[in-house]
Amino acid sequence: MLSSDQVKDFIEFEKNNIISLLKELVLIDSGSHNFSGIMDVAKVVITELEALGFNNTVYEFQQAGPNLVSEIKGESNKSIILLGHMDTVFDSNAQDLNPFRKESGKIYGPGVLDMKGGIVQIINAVKALLYLNKQKYGIKIILVGDEESGHLHSNALDLFKAESQDALAVFCCESGRTNNQIVLERKGVGTLTVEVKGRSAHPGNELAAGRNAIAELSRQIVKIHSQYTDPQADLTASIGIIEGGTTVNVVPDRAKGIFDIRFKQDKSLKDFLKFTNDLAAQPHQDNLETETIYINEYPPMAKTAESEKLLHFVSHLSKNNGFGALKAIAVGGGADSTFFSASGIPTVCSFGPVGKNAHTYDEFIYEKDFFDRIILLADCLLNIDLAELN
Ligand SMILES: [Zn+2]
Repeated sequence: MLSSDQVKDFIEFEKNNIISLLKELVLIDSGSHNFSGIMDVAKVVITELEALGFNNTVYEFQQAGPNLVSEIKGESNKSIILLGHMDTVFDSNAQDLNPFRKESGKIYGPGVLDMKGGIVQIINAVKALLYLNKQKYGIKIILVGDEESGHLHSNALDLFKAESQDALAVFCCESGRTNNQIVLERKGVGTLTVEVKGRSAHPGNELAAGRNAIAELSRQIVKIHSQYTDPQADLTASIGIIEGGTTVNVVPDRAKGIFDIRFKQDKSLKDFLKFTNDLAAQPHQDNLETETIYINEYPPMAKTAESEKLLHFVSHLSKNNGFGALKAIAVGGGADSTFFSASGIPTVCSFGPVGKNAHTYDEFIYEKDFFDRIILLADCLLNIDLAELN
């Protein structure tokens, strides 16, 4: 195993530059809808990585921020993927509400945790690796510009698929969690839209002729909730939006409900969709029609033997560095890492700098943990070996 002391010395020497780069990135407004701001983040990253010998490819879109793939070849044709995103959830007023500053061991700013700190971590870890001239595998840095808006208008999903063909492992540098928790399991995420069509009528004179779409939708919501709201279960469904009716003295002929769906296994999703289709096919009255549309956002991330091996390796390095052992956890939210783990690549997620309050005006990272995570990622790149992970 290669010593991490040189990594530590290098990062120590670079500390001021690292903080300057973090500040530069945090000060750029790159909310998901601010495409030029996201491009400005990409430009800063490209300047840094070009100087290290990376090839950079930018993909631009009409209705989404750009995606960036930066690549450097290694001795082996296998590569390690460092994954993240350049967009944030914030508008420009966040710079006033949570200005970039250091305060009692914390660094504040919009997107500092989710995930500009992770971008700086990635850049500086590869800088340390290349400085030590110990690069064995290729490195691909994939930073998307539309993570927070769900990749509806970009090539992100195709990109993940294409770039993962020769991947040895994925480190997703999303917001790090406190207490050394690393995410190895995530629930799959999707939405189910249930749209009911009935018949409008005057509720005073022709009530029997009407077909109440809201009543039918309500029946289906109650049935779905009675079966699928146990948080411990394999799948949960939660109604999030309902729409229906025009005015109070008309029997409503339309109603729509949208459910948030979280699931651990594809099979439970399949069973659930059969349940909702059966429910839709048996309305409480004739002449009520239901259409259901399911849209999958993220596949589930299951804890695989490969990911556990990768975490074991990372945790060992973390202990060696005096940062403590890492713990695997399962969470309910989706992330881009799930697309890689779903295709069988060893993946650790939430490996970025540790902090709190992501997506709020109190967002911060811990300064010490920030540098520790850069050292740990560099140490992983330095010591990772295909033979150990298989
Ligand atoms: Zn994020």
